[in-house]
Amino acid sequence: MNRIILKSAGVAIASILASILLATIVVSALGGTIDGNAWLMLTICPLAIAWPASAFTFWQSERLRNAHRQLARAHAELAAAHRRLEEKASRDTMTGMFNRESFFAALDRSRRKTDRGALLIIDADHFKKINDNFGHLTGDKALLEIAAAVRRAVRAGDVLGRIGGEEFGAFLTGASDEEAMRVAERIRCEVEAIRFHPADGDVVPLTVSIGGTPCASGANVSDLMRAADKHLYEAKNRGRNLAIFDDGISAAA
Ligand code: GH3
Ligand code: MG
Ligand code: MG
Repeated sequence: MNRIILKSAGVAIASILASILLATIVVSALGGTIDGNAWLMLTICPLAIAWPASAFTFWQSERLRNAHRQLARAHAELAAAHRRLEEKASRDTMTGMFNRESFFAALDRSRRKTDRGALLIIDADHFKKINDNFGHLTGDKALLEIAAAVRRAVRAGDVLGRIGGEEFGAFLTGASDEEAMRVAERIRCEVEAIRFHPADGDVVPLTVSIGGTPCASGANVSDLMRAADKHLYEAKNRGRNLAIFDDGISAAA
């Protein structure tokens, strides 16, 4: 408020000086002189008009500035909330991995940047039996343990997604065939090493079958999925707990 009074006082003083200067020039040009009452009018009129008028204008512009600041803050908060919502919507609520749609979008984005990399599809073996034997809640716990094992086995920067009920996707960014085979085997071993202990039973073995494919240049996401899926089914048909990457096979001893 003080700032507005001071600024408008400055404008009022400038108006007084301007009106005195203007009156002096005009009156002198007409051959007259400015007398005592005229001086009073030249001072009081600009003071009575310019001071309140400029104070009102400064007050309005201050209010406008405040409204702009509030709007900018609300906009930033909205943008942050939007980012949080977007992030939440892209995740699978159970495992925290990307959901199917976001996994494929991320895979597509990576494919546009580079041709190097590999796709693995990881499917829990005989998972229905775990649900049937121990119930769905225990099945959920087993699924979380498998997801954690997959996470431990991949490298930082690899993209993970839950692409089906008991099925995960891993895109190994920039991985060579040998590296991809090694990661697939590491995932298989990590899951095999889990000692899953349902509340009302002994340790239940958990295993996964894995199908993988290198990212051939020009292949789109559907081509990659088809190739990895083919190897996954091969792994299932060969007895499960097996990783098949392109032509390479790795299985439990
Ligand atoms: P396979 O080795 O051939 O893959 O056998 P499978 O039993 O794992 O495969 P199938 O497709 O017959 O069954 C998948 C099971 O996974 C059935 C389904 O109820 C279970 N499943 C899928 N999503 C979830 C989940 O979020 N929680 C639990 N507990 N079970 C799930
Ligand atoms: Mg399965
Ligand atoms: Mg499945």
